[in-house]
Order: sequence, then C-alpha cells, then structure tokens
Amino acid sequence: MATLSPALQQSSSVLVDHAQGSWIYADNGREYLDFTTGIGVTSTGHCHPRVVAAAREQIGKVIHAQATTVMHRPMLEFINELGTVLPATLDSIFFSNSGSEAVESALRLARMATGRQNIVAFQGGFHGRTTGAASVTSATTTVRAGFGPLMPGVFFAPYPNAFHYKWGEQETIEFCLRELDYLFHTQTSPKDTAAFIIEPVQGDGGYIKTPEPFMRALRQIADDNGILLICDEVQAGVGKTGHFWSHQISGAVPDIMTMAKGIASGFPISGIAANQSIMSKAWPGSQGGTYCGNAVAAAAGAETIRVIKDEHLVHNAAERGEQLAALLDPLEQQYRNVGQARGVGLMRSIEFVDDNGVPAPSLARKVQLAAEEHNLLTLTCSPYNNVVRVVPALNVSAQEIDEGAARLSAAVQEVLG
Ligand code: PMP
Repeated sequence: MATLSPALQQSSSVLVDHAQGSWIYADNGREYLDFTTGIGVTSTGHCHPRVVAAAREQIGKVIHAQATTVMHRPMLEFINELGTVLPATLDSIFFSNSGSEAVESALRLARMATGRQNIVAFQGGFHGRTTGAASVTSATTTVRAGFGPLMPGVFFAPYPNAFHYKWGEQETIEFCLRELDYLFHTQTSPKDTAAFIIEPVQGDGGYIKTPEPFMRALRQIADDNGILLICDEVQAGVGKTGHFWSHQISGAVPDIMTMAKGIASGFPISGIAANQSIMSKAWPGSQGGTYCGNAVAAAAGAETIRVIKDEHLVHNAAERGEQLAALLDPLEQQYRNVGQARGVGLMRSIEFVDDNGVPAPSLARKVQLAAEEHNLLTLTCSPYNNVVRVVPALNVSAQEIDEGAARLSAAVQEVLG
C-alpha cells in the first residue's frame, strides 16, 4: 500500500472537504477560519465565483496548449492584465509554475543578462527549494541541510532586521550597508556580481518589512555598479501589503521581479517580469518548460487580477490590515513572551521568546495548535520557527478580522496565561 512521504507534513489535523472565501470546511464537519490562504495563495479567497467560472470555461476549451509549441489566448490575456498592474519598465513576462521556478528563471536571466556569475542574497530570505533557489535561501537551514553542495557563486549579506540585532533601525541599516560594502571588498567584487535578490517584505523569514532606506540604497548601489536588483514578490506580492507589489512600499523598482502564489488564486502559475532589454538577453530555449503558462491557470490568473481591481481588494487589504494590526500588535505590550508583534498590511506575525528573550519555537507551536482548537488556521515561520504568522485573503471582511484576531488572542492567552 502506498502512503504519502513523511517529507510532506501538515501543520494541522484538517482534512479539507471544501472551501469558500476565508473558510475551510473540514471532512469532520468543523469550519475553520483560514488565515493561511494556502501560504498566501488564495488571494481572492477560496473558490471566488468569478475565478471558478473562468477556469471552468477554459477547461472546456483547452487545458494544455503547450506554450513552446502554440500560443493561447489566456496567456495573452494574463499578460495584458499583469501589464495594467506592473511597473511600466517591467514590460516583458515569462511564465513558469512555482515560486521556486520563477526564482530559478530570475537567477538564470540575471547571469545571462550581465555575463556575471555571483548573486548576493540577504540573511533570512526565502526563495524556494529547487537547487538554485535553495542556494539563495537562508530563512531556514531545513531547505539547505543534507543535500549540498548547493549552487556556487552565492554570497549572503546581513539583512536589516533590527529586532534580531537588538538595535535601532537606523543603526541596523548602517551596519548592513557597511557589511555589504565589506562583502564587495572581501568576497565578491561588484564587477563579478550579477544581482541582488531580496524580498521587500520577508515572508518565511518572519513577515519583516525591509526598511525603505535600505531598499533605496540597494537600488542605488545596483545602478552604480551594473548589478541587477531582483525583488522576490512571490509571497508579499499581489495586494497583501496594501500595495499591489511590496517593492512599491519603498519605490525601489526592481530590474527583475518574481511572482507566484496570489497571482492566480490557487492555480500553480508563476513568472518573472523584466524590461524587454534585459529579457532579450535570454535566448529562446534558455527558459521554458512543458507546463509554463498553463491555459487554465492563466485564465484564472487573468480573472484574479480583474477581480482584485474590480472589487478594490488592495484597498480592502490595507484597511483590514490596519484593523488586524490594531488588534494583534498590543500583544507585544501585554505578554513578556511576545518579543514582537509586527507586519505589513494583512501579513501579520507574532514572534515568541522565552523569559530571557531567546527565540521560543515551542510557544509558537503551542499557540498554533491552540488556535486550531479555536477553529483558526495559522502558520509558523522564521529561522528559529518561533513566529506565528497570519495572512488572510484580500477580500476578508471586517467581521472575519475581528473573529480571527479574537481567536488568535484567546490562543495566546491560553498558552502564555
Ligand atoms: N519565494 C518566496 C518569497 C516564497 O515565499 C516562496 C514560497 N514560500 C518561494 C519563493 C518558493 O515558492 P514555491 O514554494 O511555489 O516554489
């Protein structure tokens, strides 16, 4: 008898029967408020009627119109829709299937476009599990340990996470920029450096906003040295931050942007966007894949973007994010074991520490389990796995936010007393 590999473990005991909006209905009849959205994927909520209709219609027309063999309309429509929300300079799009694949594409394009090999990534960043993507990932050694060596040519620079360093923000930014400069003088010369890869808001690292001055400084250093800026928008993109893309917080426009998760409400499609002048440095066939730009996923993606625009969901995410922050952020003052309650927009997290301020993963896990008992689904993350994060759908209601925050606060109260 075959069984599921233990490599794929679930953080909850839920067996899903069906889901709608912000709710998951389990096989056993329980109803869960889903503040995980499939790790930031079901942007328009579960099974948004318009996304379902678009996908259903496409399934009846053509499912797999292989994109290196033929062109299909859903891909053209998805490109058109993305064009309405992307920065004007990112006018060329390549599609793949997962976030990791998009990161692989971005790294490959950066190397081809610059003729340079080295990549500078930032500590605590998460970019995926395939070999290239894992090589630039440092949010956890779980995706790096035991199967090395990984891709050479990767250098990690400190990330301006002031809470981690226990410094003020300005001091942390200055330290990180000084260390980056030191890296350029000691390990990877700027002229060998193809790209920076960074999440404008760290996702699996713990829902940490990269300070705007740091993002803008990276943009300047990149410009001064012919280095490309890759922004990984796989998790923080598509409205969750209250901006359509998380790089818009600082205004530092990337040269290459990755996208996935929320772009198609749950269908596995991802992509990179770059300026035509950069994208044209990748010769035909250097990027591709059997399923890239799948017709059903692209139809769902195009409809997702339309729904987000028509229903003003980025605005809703900003408002509901403020509401959620007002309910969760005070936990930091209430409990000494809440080291920090933070986030951007609807991406909110609570970092747990012990009485000495040391990361406390067991507390995070207990809170997650207690929340599940209250029929609220949450995620854990961060290098020490001591952070509980929530990321509701963009169309979550004010009432659902109140309900979710009450359930999470109750779980925290039960665990921390
Ligand atoms: N980049 C970021 C920022 C991510 O959050 C993730 C997934 N958590 C990935 C890349 C990898 O995406 P996937 O799991 O779809 O390969």
